[in-house]
Amino acid sequence: MYALAIHGGAGVPPKDKMTAEEQAALLAALARCLEVGETILRDGGTALDAATRAVCELEDEPLFNAGRGAVFNANGEHEMDAAVMQGQDRRAGAVAGIFGPRNPVQVARAVLEQTDQVFLIGPNALDVARSAGVPFEGKDYFFTQKRWDMLQETMKLRKVGQESDDPARRHGTVGAVALDLYGNLSAATSTGGMTAKAPGRVGDTPCIGAGTFADNETCAVSATGYGEIFLQRTAAYEIAARMKYAKQDLIPAATYVVQKDLAPRGGSGGVIAVDRLGNIATPFNCNGMYRATVREGGIPSVAVY
Ligand code: ASP
Repeated sequence: MYALAIHGGAGVPPKDKMTAEEQAALLAALARCLEVGETILRDGGTALDAATRAVCELEDEPLFNAGRGAVFNANGEHEMDAAVMQGQDRRAGAVAGIFGPRNPVQVARAVLEQTDQVFLIGPNALDVARSAGVPFEGKDYFFTQKRWDMLQETMKLRKVGQESDDPARRHGTVGAVALDLYGNLSAATSTGGMTAKAPGRVGDTPCIGAGTFADNETCAVSATGYGEIFLQRTAAYEIAARMKYAKQDLIPAATYVVQKDLAPRGGSGGVIAVDRLGNIATPFNCNGMYRATVREGGIPSVAVY
């Protein structure tokens, strides 16, 4: 049995603020990225490959806040975070605050496969990317007018002491969780973070156990939402811990964490998660979450709300 779930973030505007064309474009992009990952699993590829490839596709898609569509920080710059983890031995790779590599998730993967470290920042993270042959891009590649306008609007509001309450402006991230034919689980997550974030701020995405986690004993999780709260709650690991110690099934464990642990504390967002039986959970506590899922032999499902 294989299974795959991907997300394009929880930064979803209310239904009446999204046009039919916008929704159609987002759904088509998700379906395409899911298909890339599913093809790998169907052909006998690994969960790590499927999750990494699916996230690369999502990063290349300017509609989502990661890679090409990454949001700007308060200085008008991009700082990207990404992580990957494999469930058979819990090995992981992560990077934070990087700019340049076209696919930050590939850099996280290179940290996993080509270094003795788990988490790298700064120039050494970029050196690892270069040695791994990850392509680099310039500012023009990562500039999108939509994200720039979001930054300007957010900064304008901040000047008068207000924070944007538009989730589409604040949030976004991409991720994938996979179960392969060999029974291995994997998770990958990548983000530009939150619009107008403080320079140097790192959210939950690259932090193992908060935004990304995988363990064959329990589940693989990729999160999206208000990163500070996901960090405080170690959201992804909390789901695994409920399964491991409280013997909960995947769906109740993930639903509890999103609805009862994160939501009451202002942790708006959601997760995608998969277990080794191929069960998939996609709970969220906000307007919506761009997501797509498929299980071996099943019909792919793509949804926003
Ligand atoms: N969790 C991400 C962060 O805090 C943002 C998001 O998923 O919306 O950086």
